[in-house]
Amino acid sequence: MDRPLRLVVATRNRGKTAEFARLLGADFRVEALPHDCPLPDESGGTFAENALIKARHAFQCLGGGQAVLADDSGLEVAVLQGRPGVLSARYAGELADDRANLTKLLADLAPHTDRSGRFVCVLALVMPTAVIEDELERVYLAEGVLEGTLEDTPRGGGGFGYDPVFRPHGWAHTLAELSPAEKDSVSHRGRAVGELLRVLGTEGIVDDA
Ligand code: IMP
Repeated sequence: MDRPLRLVVATRNRGKTAEFARLLGADFRVEALPHDCPLPDESGGTFAENALIKARHAFQCLGGGQAVLADDSGLEVAVLQGRPGVLSARYAGELADDRANLTKLLADLAPHTDRSGRFVCVLALVMPTAVIEDELERVYLAEGVLEGTLEDTPRGGGGFGYDPVFRPHGWAHTLAELSPAEKDSVSHRGRAVGELLRVLGTEGIVDDA
């Protein structure tokens, strides 16, 4: 396998592209999704379905010759039966921003004493293969989970989304109070990348992580 491995990240979020470049390390050359490849609707019912929809769509748009990574992530709250889940980015409505979503989450949680929640990230990597037994692509999935507690009052100015109310287990601070390096070391995205590298290591695609 040629190194570094070229990898297009199927997102328009430049922060996310940079975060994946940092987390994946030197075995990969991370590239942005070309502007003439549109992102599809996230119509799946699970994080894995949505990550696969995005990765496959970009893979086909790029002609099937280029490795593509996509992710889908969100917050699952036990007492809300797993909501906001795949709707995390649009919990308070299609055009809702982070603040509106956070306000709705705190209102929904107000009557409850169980404040446990978890962030989940699923990565889908679609790689071209030589044509062997009709196989044109190979798909790898990896999941990362971060368990924690949802605080009543937002704290901290870093991060995004639900970070100001999410305190990971074992930490006294919310994710919004951690440095980017501290967040990377515990985050669901960091853990999903670790799992993906482990799987790719066992396949001999990267050096064992
Ligand atoms: P997506 O995976 O970029 O579609 O993110 C979905 C939504 O989940 C985001 O808009 C946030 O509301 C939430 N989310 C995902 N990861 C995080 C995180 O690390 N911190 C806070 N919110 C997150």
